[in-house]
This record gives sequence, C-alpha cells and structure tokens, in this order.
Amino acid sequence: MCHIDNQPLSDVDYQQIKMFNVLICSNLSGKTYNLIWACFSQELQMNSLYQVHLQIAKLSHVIEHTYDCCVNSSCCCFIACFASLNACPYCKEPHYKSDGWTPLQTFHYLPIGPRLKVLYLNDKFSELLQYHGTLDLDSATIDNVFHGDHYHSLL
Ligand SMILES: [Zn+2]
Repeated sequence: MCHIDNQPLSDVDYQQIKMFNVLICSNLSGKTYNLIWACFSQELQMNSLYQVHLQIAKLSHVIEHTYDCCVNSSCCCFIACFASLNACPYCKEPHYKSDGWTPLQTFHYLPIGPRLKVLYLNDKFSELLQYHGTLDLDSATIDNVFHGDHYHSLL
C-alpha cells in the first residue's frame, strides 16, 4: 500500500496508522493516551499523541485547524476581529485560562477541500464518486434515486 505521494508506507507509517485507528475506534481520550505513552513509550515504541497526529496529517495531507472559541457552548470563535478579545462579546466568559495565553476552549476543524482531494486521489473512492456520471438517466428502469421523478424535476 502507498500513501498519496505514491511512496510505500514504512513500518512506522503502519504503526502510526494502527495507533490512530485504536484512538478513533476506542474513543480513547488524549489524556489517557498520554498517560499510557508516559508509562510505556519505550516498551511499546509509541510516539506522543502530538507525533501521531502529525504523522497522520502528513500521510493524509489533511491538516487540522484549531481555533480558540468561547467555553460557553462555543458561541464565539476568536478569529478575525474577535482574535484579540480577552472575553466573549456575547456571554462575557473569559477567552484564556488564568495564565493569560492558554485558551479555555478550542475548536478543531478539518477543511473539506483537502478531504475531497484525498478521496479523488484514492482509486477505489474515485471510482465510487464517479458513479453518477456513468448512469443512463433516461433509463426506463427506476433502480436508484437518480431515476426518480423528484430528482429529474430538479435538473
Ligand atoms: Zn460566549
């Protein structure tokens, strides 16, 4: 198997992918992962959570964006004209912890553009995504949503 740069995956790549899969499938918290890493990193040849995320981002070409946001139900994202505020303009909750620079809450965002690009770079998913383009829309047989009257009324 290769990653999207057509370079073969290394043993370390496979290890990182498997660890990331464990994280995702088990809903393991970052705090728990870091505790396991601190206790067993040498025996299990584990990388830090930060290193795992960095490697997955590198392999997938999908970079996570992190934004400071209001701790109270995320009513404000501290970007653009709100970036320099020390408190939420809506609920007045503070932006930072008592150290004055660590945000109380962050929002993690995976941009859709790179995610779609990666899907089209994968041969299997690229073929699946082209399904609609291969259909005979004038077919007399109705065997999926694209042959229905409602879909045709939208064209
Ligand atoms: Zn707020």
